[in-house]
Amino acid sequence: MLAPEILAEFAALLGPERARADADTRALYARDETPRSCTPEAVLFPASHDEVAGLVRLALRHKLPLTPRGAGSGNVGGALPAPGSLVVSFECMNRVLEFDPDNRLVVVEPGVVTDDIDRLARSKGLMYAPDPGSGAYCRIGGNLAMNAAGPRAVKYGATRDHVLALRAVTGAGREIRTGSRTTKYATGYDLTRLLVGSEGTLALITEATLRLVPAPERIANLRVCYAGNRAACEAIIRVMRQAVVPSALEFMDRRSIEAIRAYGGAEGLPEGTRAVLMVAADGAHDDVPRQIAALEKALAGEGLIEIQSGFTEEEIARLWTARKSLSMAVKKIAPLKINEDVVVPVTRLAELVEAIDAMGRRHRVPLVAFGHAGNGNLHVNIMVHQDDAEEMERARACRRELVETVMRLAGSLSGEHGIGSEKRGFLPLEIEADTLALMRALKQTFDPQGILNPGKKLPD
Ligand SMILES: Cc1cc2nc3c(=O)[nH]c(=O)nc-3n(C[C@H](O)[C@H](O)[C@H](O)COP(=O)(O)OP(=O)(O)OC[C@H]3O[C@@H](n4cnc5c(N)ncnc54)[C@H](O)[C@@H]3O)c2cc1C
Repeated sequence: MLAPEILAEFAALLGPERARADADTRALYARDETPRSCTPEAVLFPASHDEVAGLVRLALRHKLPLTPRGAGSGNVGGALPAPGSLVVSFECMNRVLEFDPDNRLVVVEPGVVTDDIDRLARSKGLMYAPDPGSGAYCRIGGNLAMNAAGPRAVKYGATRDHVLALRAVTGAGREIRTGSRTTKYATGYDLTRLLVGSEGTLALITEATLRLVPAPERIANLRVCYAGNRAACEAIIRVMRQAVVPSALEFMDRRSIEAIRAYGGAEGLPEGTRAVLMVAADGAHDDVPRQIAALEKALAGEGLIEIQSGFTEEEIARLWTARKSLSMAVKKIAPLKINEDVVVPVTRLAELVEAIDAMGRRHRVPLVAFGHAGNGNLHVNIMVHQDDAEEMERARACRRELVETVMRLAGSLSGEHGIGSEKRGFLPLEIEADTLALMRALKQTFDPQGILNPGKKLPD
């Protein structure tokens, strides 16, 4: 328990309502989406940049670790409290500080919910492009810390590509500003790109200037059914090789389709379908049909069973029915999913999917793979029963083999979910010793006492 006199110092800074150490509040902030928990010593709710700077200085004085937190929707333990830490929840810093449509930017505090930024942008014909599936509740600070992305990343990029400037407080208590309000910038080191994706281990982000883009006038979708995984993976390469960049290119493997069928969500999927691509195009009203025609041409090839297009809201919703049922369908296979988020060059996707099939059989664990194929990013879900120790052991061996396979295919551990506490042990497989040493030196510079999110991102 945090000593009452130290809690009183935080309460004097934030007010007693925003420096809490009661059991209920601590229990509420003990977990993120990872199936583990650790009760923090206290939960702090700063409401301004100055309060964040003040609480970091107090934490430094008392040598207290801090666990930053957005909405706790992360699935790699990024916001899982470190033992003995205080959670810093940014939910009270939820103001839009400036909306400047003429310069296509918005300045926000870290607690603003992602979809609210997009909604605001669209009120003036603009769009905030990154679209994580959790956008309705995750917060922009969490997105910045994880470099979150969604289906639109294949055309528009991830969070990192939409950040112009940041304000933050480092673990040493320095108050820093990075980047600029301009879309061109060649001054100083690019600390903005360093802080995005740093998972709360270098600095607490207190303000972000985000780049907005024109909202498309129109969106259309294709649902494309194939006889097998390889046929779908070859179509992905053909699509990514031609000139029209889709605004989504999502893949579901054979096991995903089997799960959807068993769940009863496969209405409308033709017989023999063993892999599906969901493809989107967006842009000017008259240009979208031209894009769809070009995409259809690239998607056609050996193993194609059917292409269906949707141009109206109802048609698009109908095409997405099977994909939307996937998350519930997967839950029926086993209660726990170990969700890997690997990424490989698109030309290696077919090899990855075949290897996943084989390792599922060898380790006798169901593996379901789907995701953002246009970026080569697959969510590989290892479905297990947590109370079956023998099955969990097989799942661990399978997970290790998956990571080694991805390394062999010139891929990476994470496309969008980050490393957190759950994947950091694998980092030396991907990042060589000298590069890791430089990353540790950066951590030491930003956070010399190691108070920011200990036990995350880098291996011990
Ligand atoms: C159903 C579901 C769907 C999802 N879909 C996607 C998806 O499509 N794409 C995707 O990328 N992710 C997805 N995720 C994962 C998750 O939503 C993202 O990682 C998201 O960015 C986390 O945001 P959050 O506000 O919940 O942050 P949290 O989980 O609370 O924290 C995430 C990390 O950010 C750090 N952090 C939070 N705020 C700050 C700050 N102000 N300064 C410094 N560090 C901070 C935390 O310490 C932690 O390391 C999904 C999760 C779920 C449950």
